[in-house]
Amino acid sequence: MTEVRVTLNRSPLAATEREGIVASPVFGQAFTDHMVTMTYSGGSWGPLELKPFAPLPLSPATLALHYGQSIFEALKAYRLQDGSAALFRSPRNASRMAASAERIAMPALSAGVFQLACALLVEADRDWIPDADGAALYVRPFMFASEPHLSVRPATEYMFVVIACPVASYFDSGSPAIRVAVESRDVRATAGGTGAAKFAGNYAAGFAAHDRAGRAGHDQVMWLDAVEHRWVEELNAMNVMFVWNRAGRTVLSTPPLTGTILGGVTRESLLQLAAAENLAGPGPVIDDAVEEPVSIEMVRAGAADGGLLEVFACGTAAVIAPIGSLVIGDREVKIGSGGPGEVTMKLRQRLLDIQHGRVADVHGWMTPLDAVLTKSGVDPASLRPGASPSGTDLPV
Ligand SMILES: *Cc1c(COP(=O)(O)O)cnc(C)c1O
Repeated sequence: MTEVRVTLNRSPLAATEREGIVASPVFGQAFTDHMVTMTYSGGSWGPLELKPFAPLPLSPATLALHYGQSIFEALKAYRLQDGSAALFRSPRNASRMAASAERIAMPALSAGVFQLACALLVEADRDWIPDADGAALYVRPFMFASEPHLSVRPATEYMFVVIACPVASYFDSGSPAIRVAVESRDVRATAGGTGAAKFAGNYAAGFAAHDRAGRAGHDQVMWLDAVEHRWVEELNAMNVMFVWNRAGRTVLSTPPLTGTILGGVTRESLLQLAAAENLAGPGPVIDDAVEEPVSIEMVRAGAADGGLLEVFACGTAAVIAPIGSLVIGDREVKIGSGGPGEVTMKLRQRLLDIQHGRVADVHGWMTPLDAVLTKSGVDPASLRPGASPSGTDLPV
C-alpha cells in the first residue's frame, strides 16, 4: 500500500502567464504548479505527496551534495488527438530508474509508484501540456541521497521527486542540423563504470569537453570508447544513429549496449520502428536496422565515399536531432547534404505521429494517464484545480 497525499496549489500561475509559457517554452526553465515527493528512511518509502512546486529544505550535509548519489529520468507526456494525455513508454523509464538505483546503491522504487508519481503530476498540471506538434510536457523524476551526514557510504535516507516543464519541438529552436565534435581527450564511460546509469556524475564529467567544443563553435560532443579511442559511443545525453547505403540497401545502425552507453528509450523505439515497419509508406525505406560497433574510420570513409548517408542523435528531449557535420581532429566532415536527412525526418515523423496519437499505437507505447490513476484508485477529477484536498490509502 502506498499512501497518496494531495495538496493542490491554491495559487497556481495565472492562466495568461501559463499560456504564454506553454505557447513558447524555453527548455528546462519554467516549471509547472506542482511537484511530487516521496522520502525513504528507516528502510522504507513514505507516502507519495503531490503538492505545490517549492524549494526543498536541505541540510548543508546532504550526502548527495558531497558524494554524488543522484540519478534521474526523463520522459514526456503528450496531448493526444482526442484531447486526452498519455506518457510515452513510462514502464521503460521506470525499469531504467530501478537499474540506475541499483548501480548507485540506492533503494529500489517500484514501477507502479514511479508511474503513479508521474501520472499524478501530469494530471494535476495537464493545462501545462502544449498542443503544438513535437511539443510536450517534459517530466523529470529524480532521486538523491537526502541524509544529512558526511560518512563516505550509501545514505540511509533518500528523496524521490518529480517535476515537469513544457518543452517545444526541437525543430522550433532554429537549428536544423547540429555540428558535433568528436572528443579526443576525455572519456565518458569505462567498462564497469557508471555509463549505463542515468547518474548525475556522468554529466558533470562531460561538461569540460562540452565547454571546449562550445568555444570552438560546435554544438555537442561525441564520445569514443575509453580503451581504443576509436569506437563511437554516444553524445552527452543522446544516443547516435547512422544511416548507411550498403550495396544499395539502406541500413540503420547504432552502437550496441555493452555497458558504457546509456540505453535510450528513443534509441530502442527507433530500432523497433525500423525493424517492425521498415518505414513503409512514401519516402525512403529502411532495409535493415542493426546494433553494430561503429568506428570513427567507418564514419570517415563513409562520409568520403558516400556510403554514410545520414547521422542523427536521439533522446527524449530532442526526439531526433540531425547531425550535419562531425569534427574529427582538425577536420570537419560533412554528412550527406549537411542538413536533416530523409530517413532521419521520416523516423522522426513516425515517432511523433505515435506520440501525438495520430496513428494507431500498435506497439502499446502510450500509457493513458487515466489508466494509471484509476488502476491505483485515484480519481483524476480529484486532481483538477478546485478539487478538495484528499488523502487516501492506495494499493500500488
Ligand atoms: C537520457 C540519455 C539518453 C537518451 O535516452 P532516452 O531514454 O532516449 O531519453 C542517451 N544518452 C544519455 C547519456 C542519456 O543520459
